[in-house]
Amino acid sequence: MTKTIASQTSNKHYFLTIETDHAVDCTCPDHQYRHHECKHMRQFNAEVTRAAAFLALKARIAAAEREARVAHRIAFELMMGL
Ligand SMILES: [Zn+2]
Repeated sequence: MTKTIASQTSNKHYFLTIETDHAVDCTCPDHQYRHHECKHMRQFNAEVTRAAAFLALKARIAAAEREARVAHRIAFELMMGL
């Protein structure tokens, strides 16, 4: 997958190549000449990491809510002598 990035310092656009959920290439001069992770790749990868952390947190909250519902039902059943 390719993501188009507008340059912040000129009216150029760069193309970020994404494999699975990680930026692996960028057409900006910083990455092309220095061959290190440029700010576009870093930014994208940080966003993916944040999104993954958010989803994991959401899943933990949902699991905690399910457990709380089960605990309430058990408490109710015990109270009612079921
Ligand atoms: Zn770049």
